[in-house]
Amino acid sequence: MIKTDIIIIGAGPTGLFTVFEAGLLKLKCHLIDALPQPGGQCSELYPKKPIYDIPGFPEILAGDLTKNLLEQGKQFEPGFTLGERADTIEKQEDGSFIVTTNKGTQHQAPVVAIASGLGSFEPRKPQLENLADYEDKGVEYMIKEPEMYRDKNVVIAGGGDSALDWSIFLADVAKSVTLVHRRNEFRGHLDSVEKVGELKREGKINLITPAEVTNILGNGKVEAIEITKQGEAPYTLETDHFIPLFGLSPKLGPIANWGLEIEKNAIKVNNALDYQTNIPGIFAIGDGNYYPGKLKLILCGFHEATIMCQAAYKIINPGKKFVLKYTTVSGVDGFDGTRK
Ligand code: FAD
Repeated sequence: MIKTDIIIIGAGPTGLFTVFEAGLLKLKCHLIDALPQPGGQCSELYPKKPIYDIPGFPEILAGDLTKNLLEQGKQFEPGFTLGERADTIEKQEDGSFIVTTNKGTQHQAPVVAIASGLGSFEPRKPQLENLADYEDKGVEYMIKEPEMYRDKNVVIAGGGDSALDWSIFLADVAKSVTLVHRRNEFRGHLDSVEKVGELKREGKINLITPAEVTNILGNGKVEAIEITKQGEAPYTLETDHFIPLFGLSPKLGPIANWGLEIEKNAIKVNNALDYQTNIPGIFAIGDGNYYPGKLKLILCGFHEATIMCQAAYKIINPGKKFVLKYTTVSGVDGFDGTRK
C-alpha cells in the first residue's frame, strides 16, 4: 500500500503543478497516470507544439513545459505510478481513500485530487470513406514530430487553436501549408487567427474557407486530396500529408462510476470555494472538472491546483493555523517557504 497526503489521479500539467503547490505546504503527493509518461495532453498529443499563453513564457514547447514542471516539483519528491489506470476508489472508516489501479496497485491518502483531464482521449475524425486506408500513410491526427513535415506539402483541416497553431508553426518548416476550414470564422485565439491572416498575406499559408476535404487520393499513401468549396465544384490539390485537427472526444472512463456528480462530461466542483466535488475529500482540478465559466486551459488548472492545496492542507491538518503570504515568505510550522 502506497501511503501519501494527496493522491493525484492524472500527471498532466495540472497534476504536476499540484506537487509543487502541495510541497510548499509540506504535503506529499503521489501521482497515478494511465500513460507511461507524465505530461498528459502536452506530452501525448502535442509535445513539439509551442504554447503561447503560459504566464512568463512568451513561447514554450509543450514538452519543455512538462520537463520544467517535473523539475519544479522534484524538490518535493513526488511518487509516481505510471502506465496504470485508477479504476476504483473506496472511502475508509478513518475518512481516508484507497485508490486501486487496473494492475492492483493500491494507494491510500486523506485527500484525492482528480486531475484526469479529458480522461482517455480519441481524436475526432472526418467522415471520409477511405480515411482508415491512409492512417499513418500521410493522414495523421496529431503532430508528434514536426520535422517529418520538413519540405513536404501539408494540408491541415480544422478551425480551432490546434489547427491554427500548427499551421503557423509548420509555415516555417513545410514546403507548403494549406489550411482548410468549413467556416470563414475560426474558434481559436484572436492572436493566432490574426497571425494566420498575416501569413496568408505573405503567401506562407494557403487559406481555403468555407471548404471541406471531401476525398483522399493516392496509391498506398496520400498523394492528393479533394477539396470542395461551398457552392463550387470539387477540385484536387496535391499533398504529402493530410492532418485533420478536429479536437478530441473525451471519455471519462472508470471515474464516471465513482459516485461523483458529472456535468458536461466532467466532474462538477464547487468553484466558489475550493474545487471540491460532491464527495468531501475528493477534489477535481484541470480539464476534468466543470463549473460555470470553466475554461480548459493550462493556466486555469494551475490556479485550481493552488486553491485546492490550501483546502487539502486544512483536511490533512485539522485545526492547524496557516496564514498565506507569498510562497517565498510565508511559513508553515517553521517552513520558511524558500525554494531550494
Ligand atoms: P491532461 O493534460 O488531459 O492530463 C490528464 C491525465 O490524466 C492524462 O495523462 C490521462 O492519461 C490521465 N488519466 C485520466 N484518467 C485516468 C485514470 N482513470 N487513471 C490514471 N490516469 C488517468 N492549453 C493551453 O493553455 N494553451 C495551449 O496553447 C493549448 N494548446 C493545446 C493544443 C492541443 C492540440 C490540445 C489537445 C490541447 C491544448 N491545450 C492548451 C489544452 C491543455 O493541453 C489542457 O488544458 C491541459 O493539458 C489540461 O491539463 P490536465 O492536467 O488537467 O489534463
